[in-house]
Amino acid sequence: MVDFSARVRGSRGIGMTSQRTRDRLIERLRSKGITDDRVLSAMRSLPRHLFVDEALATRAYEDTALPIGRGQTISQPYVVALMTQTLIAEPMPKRVLEIGTGSGYQAAVLGMLVEKVYSIERIRELQRLARRRLLKLGLNNVHLKYVDGHVGWAEQAPFDAIILTAAANAVPDALFEQLADGGRLIAPVGSSMAQQLNIWRREGDQLVCQSIEAVTFVPLLGGTE
Ligand code: SAH
Repeated sequence: MVDFSARVRGSRGIGMTSQRTRDRLIERLRSKGITDDRVLSAMRSLPRHLFVDEALATRAYEDTALPIGRGQTISQPYVVALMTQTLIAEPMPKRVLEIGTGSGYQAAVLGMLVEKVYSIERIRELQRLARRRLLKLGLNNVHLKYVDGHVGWAEQAPFDAIILTAAANAVPDALFEQLADGGRLIAPVGSSMAQQLNIWRREGDQLVCQSIEAVTFVPLLGGTE
Protein backbone atom coordinates (compact mmCIF):
# COMPACT_ATOMS: atom_id res chain seq x y z
CA MET A 1 0.00 0.00 0.00
CA VAL A 2 1.26 3.48 -0.86
CA ASP A 3 2.58 5.56 2.03
CA PHE A 4 1.30 9.07 1.50
CA SER A 5 2.98 10.60 4.52
CA ALA A 6 6.13 11.49 2.59
CA ARG A 7 4.14 13.13 -0.18
CA VAL A 8 2.12 15.34 2.12
CA ARG A 9 4.74 16.06 4.77
CA GLY A 10 4.93 19.69 5.63
CA SER A 11 1.29 20.17 4.80
CA ARG A 12 -1.13 21.17 7.49
CA GLY A 13 -2.27 19.50 10.65
CA ILE A 14 -0.65 16.51 12.25
CA GLY A 15 -2.37 16.40 15.65
CA MET A 16 -6.01 15.92 14.78
CA THR A 17 -5.14 13.68 11.90
CA SER A 18 -2.94 11.32 13.89
CA GLN A 19 -2.75 7.69 12.89
CA ARG A 20 -4.70 6.81 16.04
CA THR A 21 -7.62 9.00 14.97
CA ARG A 22 -7.58 7.37 11.54
CA ASP A 23 -7.35 3.89 13.00
CA ARG A 24 -10.44 4.56 15.09
CA LEU A 25 -12.38 5.34 11.92
CA ILE A 26 -11.15 2.10 10.34
CA GLU A 27 -12.28 0.14 13.40
CA ARG A 28 -15.67 1.76 13.14
CA LEU A 29 -15.95 0.80 9.46
CA ARG A 30 -15.04 -2.76 10.38
CA SER A 31 -17.67 -2.87 13.11
CA LYS A 32 -20.27 -1.65 10.63
CA GLY A 33 -19.58 -4.58 8.32
CA ILE A 34 -16.74 -3.50 6.03
CA THR A 35 -14.66 -6.65 5.69
CA ASP A 36 -12.48 -6.05 2.61
CA ASP A 37 -8.95 -5.46 3.90
CA ARG A 38 -7.90 -3.83 0.63
CA VAL A 39 -10.54 -1.14 1.16
CA LEU A 40 -9.76 -0.71 4.85
CA SER A 41 -6.05 -0.34 4.29
CA ALA A 42 -6.53 2.10 1.40
CA MET A 43 -8.76 4.24 3.61
CA ARG A 44 -6.36 3.94 6.52
CA SER A 45 -3.50 5.40 4.50
CA LEU A 46 -5.39 8.02 2.47
CA PRO A 47 -5.39 11.42 4.25
CA ARG A 48 -9.10 12.38 4.13
CA HIS A 49 -8.34 15.71 5.84
CA LEU A 50 -6.70 16.91 2.61
CA PHE A 51 -10.04 16.52 0.82
CA VAL A 52 -11.94 19.02 2.96
CA ASP A 53 -11.51 22.68 3.78
CA GLU A 54 -8.88 23.40 6.43
CA ALA A 55 -11.59 24.58 8.84
CA LEU A 56 -13.15 21.10 8.76
CA ALA A 57 -9.92 19.09 8.90
CA THR A 58 -10.43 18.22 12.59
CA ARG A 59 -13.64 16.41 11.63
CA ALA A 60 -12.21 14.55 8.65
CA TYR A 61 -11.95 11.20 10.47
CA GLU A 62 -15.48 11.24 11.85
CA ASP A 63 -17.78 8.84 10.05
CA THR A 64 -19.85 11.61 8.54
CA ALA A 65 -20.42 13.46 5.27
CA LEU A 66 -18.96 17.00 5.27
CA PRO A 67 -19.63 20.07 3.12
CA ILE A 68 -17.14 20.78 0.31
CA GLY A 69 -18.74 23.99 -1.00
CA ARG A 70 -21.25 24.71 -3.76
CA GLY A 71 -23.87 22.79 -1.78
CA GLN A 72 -22.01 19.51 -2.27
CA THR A 73 -20.57 17.01 0.21
CA ILE A 74 -17.75 14.53 0.60
CA SER A 75 -19.54 11.23 1.27
CA GLN A 76 -19.63 9.51 4.64
CA PRO A 77 -16.59 7.17 4.97
CA TYR A 78 -18.83 4.17 5.68
CA VAL A 79 -20.71 4.74 2.42
CA VAL A 80 -17.44 5.18 0.47
CA ALA A 81 -16.17 1.92 1.99
CA LEU A 82 -19.42 0.07 1.32
CA MET A 83 -19.63 1.18 -2.31
CA THR A 84 -15.95 0.47 -2.93
CA GLN A 85 -16.12 -2.95 -1.30
CA THR A 86 -19.18 -3.87 -3.35
CA LEU A 87 -17.63 -2.60 -6.57
CA ILE A 88 -14.29 -4.41 -6.26
CA ALA A 89 -15.65 -7.78 -5.15
CA GLU A 90 -14.50 -10.52 -7.57
CA PRO A 91 -13.94 -10.04 -10.42
CA MET A 92 -11.71 -7.05 -9.66
CA PRO A 93 -12.52 -4.24 -12.13
CA LYS A 94 -9.65 -2.64 -14.06
CA ARG A 95 -11.32 0.47 -15.45
CA VAL A 96 -13.80 2.36 -13.30
CA LEU A 97 -15.99 5.36 -14.17
CA GLU A 98 -17.21 7.68 -11.40
CA ILE A 99 -19.97 10.26 -11.84
CA GLY A 100 -19.53 13.08 -9.28
CA THR A 101 -15.83 13.71 -8.53
CA GLY A 102 -16.69 16.21 -5.77
CA SER A 103 -13.69 16.40 -3.43
CA GLY A 104 -11.93 13.59 -5.30
CA TYR A 105 -11.86 11.33 -2.22
CA GLN A 106 -13.85 8.41 -3.63
CA ALA A 107 -11.83 8.63 -6.85
CA ALA A 108 -8.61 8.53 -4.80
CA VAL A 109 -9.71 5.46 -2.84
CA LEU A 110 -10.51 3.72 -6.13
CA GLY A 111 -7.26 4.96 -7.65
CA MET A 112 -5.33 3.10 -4.96
CA LEU A 113 -7.13 -0.13 -5.76
CA VAL A 114 -7.76 -0.37 -9.51
CA GLU A 115 -5.72 0.28 -12.64
CA LYS A 116 -7.56 3.30 -14.01
CA VAL A 117 -10.23 5.64 -12.72
CA TYR A 118 -12.19 8.06 -14.90
CA SER A 119 -14.19 10.61 -12.91
CA ILE A 120 -16.63 13.25 -14.13
CA GLU A 121 -17.71 16.46 -12.38
CA ARG A 122 -20.14 19.20 -13.46
CA ILE A 123 -18.79 21.99 -11.18
CA ARG A 124 -15.49 23.31 -12.50
CA GLU A 125 -14.30 24.76 -9.20
CA LEU A 126 -14.70 21.43 -7.37
CA GLN A 127 -12.93 19.64 -10.20
CA ARG A 128 -10.02 22.08 -10.00
CA LEU A 129 -9.54 21.42 -6.28
CA ALA A 130 -9.89 17.65 -6.73
CA ARG A 131 -7.26 17.68 -9.47
CA ARG A 132 -4.82 19.50 -7.20
CA ARG A 133 -5.29 16.98 -4.39
CA LEU A 134 -4.88 13.96 -6.67
CA LEU A 135 -1.71 15.42 -8.18
CA LYS A 136 -0.27 16.13 -4.75
CA LEU A 137 -0.88 12.51 -3.76
CA GLY A 138 0.66 11.29 -6.99
CA LEU A 139 -2.48 9.44 -8.03
CA ASN A 140 -1.90 9.87 -11.75
CA ASN A 141 -4.07 6.91 -12.74
CA VAL A 142 -7.15 9.01 -11.94
CA HIS A 143 -8.41 10.96 -14.96
CA LEU A 144 -10.88 13.82 -14.60
CA LYS A 145 -13.37 15.33 -17.01
CA TYR A 146 -15.57 18.40 -16.72
CA VAL A 147 -18.93 17.57 -18.28
CA ASP A 148 -22.51 16.67 -17.34
CA GLY A 149 -22.16 13.05 -16.18
CA HIS A 150 -25.45 12.05 -17.83
CA VAL A 151 -23.47 11.41 -21.02
CA GLY A 152 -20.74 9.33 -19.37
CA TRP A 153 -17.33 9.07 -21.05
CA ALA A 154 -17.93 7.27 -24.34
CA GLU A 155 -14.31 7.58 -25.60
CA GLN A 156 -13.07 5.50 -22.66
CA ALA A 157 -15.94 2.98 -22.55
CA PRO A 158 -16.58 0.16 -21.84
CA PHE A 159 -15.97 0.26 -18.09
CA ASP A 160 -15.73 -2.77 -15.80
CA ALA A 161 -17.44 -0.77 -13.09
CA ILE A 162 -19.40 2.48 -12.82
CA ILE A 163 -20.15 4.35 -9.60
CA LEU A 164 -22.58 7.25 -9.21
CA THR A 165 -22.00 9.38 -6.13
CA ALA A 166 -25.05 11.57 -6.73
CA ALA A 167 -28.64 10.34 -6.62
CA ALA A 168 -31.05 10.15 -9.57
CA ASN A 169 -34.58 8.86 -9.96
CA ALA A 170 -33.23 6.66 -12.72
CA VAL A 171 -29.71 5.87 -13.87
CA PRO A 172 -29.04 7.56 -17.27
CA ASP A 173 -29.21 5.05 -20.17
CA ALA A 174 -25.83 6.20 -21.52
CA LEU A 175 -24.14 4.86 -18.39
CA PHE A 176 -25.63 1.40 -18.72
CA GLU A 177 -24.53 1.45 -22.36
CA GLN A 178 -20.94 2.12 -21.26
CA LEU A 179 -20.89 -0.83 -18.86
CA ALA A 180 -18.87 -3.87 -20.02
CA ASP A 181 -20.41 -7.34 -20.07
CA GLY A 182 -20.06 -8.76 -16.58
CA GLY A 183 -19.51 -5.22 -15.22
CA ARG A 184 -21.17 -3.67 -12.18
CA LEU A 185 -22.85 -0.30 -11.75
CA ILE A 186 -23.59 1.03 -8.27
CA ALA A 187 -25.84 4.05 -7.66
CA PRO A 188 -28.11 5.69 -5.11
CA VAL A 189 -31.57 5.79 -6.67
CA GLY A 190 -34.63 7.70 -5.53
CA SER A 191 -35.88 11.14 -4.54
CA SER A 192 -33.99 13.63 -2.39
CA MET A 193 -35.75 12.26 0.69
CA ALA A 194 -35.41 8.52 0.27
CA GLN A 195 -32.78 6.70 -1.74
CA GLN A 196 -31.75 3.13 -2.06
CA LEU A 197 -28.23 2.04 -2.95
CA ASN A 198 -28.61 -0.36 -5.88
CA ILE A 199 -26.14 -2.51 -7.76
CA TRP A 200 -26.63 -3.78 -11.30
CA ARG A 201 -24.65 -6.44 -13.08
CA ARG A 202 -24.62 -6.67 -16.84
CA GLU A 203 -25.09 -10.19 -18.17
CA GLY A 204 -25.16 -9.81 -21.94
CA ASP A 205 -28.31 -7.83 -22.72
CA GLN A 206 -29.67 -8.31 -19.23
CA LEU A 207 -29.18 -6.02 -16.22
CA VAL A 208 -29.63 -7.79 -12.91
CA CYS A 209 -30.39 -5.42 -10.02
CA GLN A 210 -29.91 -5.89 -6.29
CA SER A 211 -30.79 -3.40 -3.57
CA ILE A 212 -28.21 -2.88 -0.82
CA GLU A 213 -29.42 -0.35 1.75
CA ALA A 214 -30.93 3.10 2.31
CA VAL A 215 -28.56 6.06 1.77
CA THR A 216 -28.63 9.85 1.37
CA PHE A 217 -26.75 11.59 -1.46
CA VAL A 218 -26.91 15.01 -3.08
CA PRO A 219 -28.88 14.94 -6.36
CA LEU A 220 -27.51 14.23 -9.82
CA LEU A 221 -28.09 17.54 -11.63
CA GLY A 222 -28.10 18.46 -15.32
CA GLY A 223 -25.71 20.78 -17.19
CA THR A 224 -22.40 22.25 -15.97
CA GLU A 225 -21.42 25.14 -13.67
N1 SAH B 1 -17.54 11.32 -4.84
C1 SAH B 1 -17.54 12.62 -4.17
C2 SAH B 1 -18.92 12.94 -3.65
C3 SAH B 1 -19.31 14.26 -4.12
S1 SAH B 1 -21.00 14.72 -3.91
C4 SAH B 1 -16.47 12.69 -3.11
O1 SAH B 1 -15.83 11.67 -2.81
O2 SAH B 1 -16.22 13.77 -2.56
C5 SAH B 1 -21.61 14.47 -5.55
C6 SAH B 1 -20.94 15.24 -6.64
O3 SAH B 1 -21.66 14.93 -7.85
C7 SAH B 1 -20.98 16.75 -6.51
O4 SAH B 1 -19.67 17.25 -6.60
C8 SAH B 1 -21.82 17.20 -7.68
O5 SAH B 1 -21.41 18.43 -8.24
C9 SAH B 1 -21.64 16.06 -8.66
N2 SAH B 1 -22.66 15.94 -9.69
C10 SAH B 1 -24.01 16.09 -9.56
N3 SAH B 1 -24.61 15.90 -10.75
C11 SAH B 1 -23.63 15.63 -11.64
C12 SAH B 1 -23.61 15.37 -13.05
N4 SAH B 1 -24.73 15.35 -13.78
N5 SAH B 1 -22.42 15.15 -13.64
C13 SAH B 1 -21.26 15.17 -12.93
N6 SAH B 1 -21.22 15.42 -11.60
C14 SAH B 1 -22.38 15.65 -10.97
